[in-house]
Amino acid sequence: MREIVRSGSDLVVPLECGGCSAPGVRWCADCAATLSDDPFLLRPRVEIGVDAWALGRYRGTYRAALIAMKEHGRRDLTVPVGTALARGVATLARWGELPDADDLTLIPAPTRRSSARRRGGDPVAAFSRVAATRLGARVRVSELLVTTARARDSAGLDARHRVRNLSGAVTLRRARVAPRGTIVLVDDVLTTGATASESVRVLARHGCALHAVIVVAGA
Ligand SMILES: [Zn+2]
Repeated sequence: MREIVRSGSDLVVPLECGGCSAPGVRWCADCAATLSDDPFLLRPRVEIGVDAWALGRYRGTYRAALIAMKEHGRRDLTVPVGTALARGVATLARWGELPDADDLTLIPAPTRRSSARRRGGDPVAAFSRVAATRLGARVRVSELLVTTARARDSAGLDARHRVRNLSGAVTLRRARVAPRGTIVLVDDVLTTGATASESVRVLARHGCALHAVIVVAGA
């Protein structure tokens, strides 16, 4: 009985900001302001072949929000993160970096099916859908890429080993929504660029030309 009471109390998650742990709010005004930064160009160690943009650096608010969303079940954070992504895409369009941002396909970077299931669905796909809704009727999400069981979790691997780990492990699946218009790969974090590089290669082999990569945070 004591066991049950204890595990029951663990379910009561205190209301706090997903970016800075401020009490009483799910997402505070300061963190919302931080996630409004202009996107900037990354220089990944692995050659991707297209421009890779980040909304911020993988630290502080960005890091906390992504970890809370992915590891601590804060699915509500897909809304502020998706809103930030939409703002970033709109900024890049205004800068002329995306050829036709009104007709846009967001492709979430591949996740392993098992890990996505464990987390209750892929958070990258979830915040991409939030962004698409914000960006308009001709912006869509195509969940085209998947990582096969051959790829191990890349945490702790260096750039060379990440590339080797992913080689041949990213595949296309049948997506309900076919990509068209300007095509952008979306991910939460870009570390070495290995996932993005392999995704670009696989998409290109199937006649799908990516225009850019946009991530929430560059490592
Ligand atoms: Zn906050």
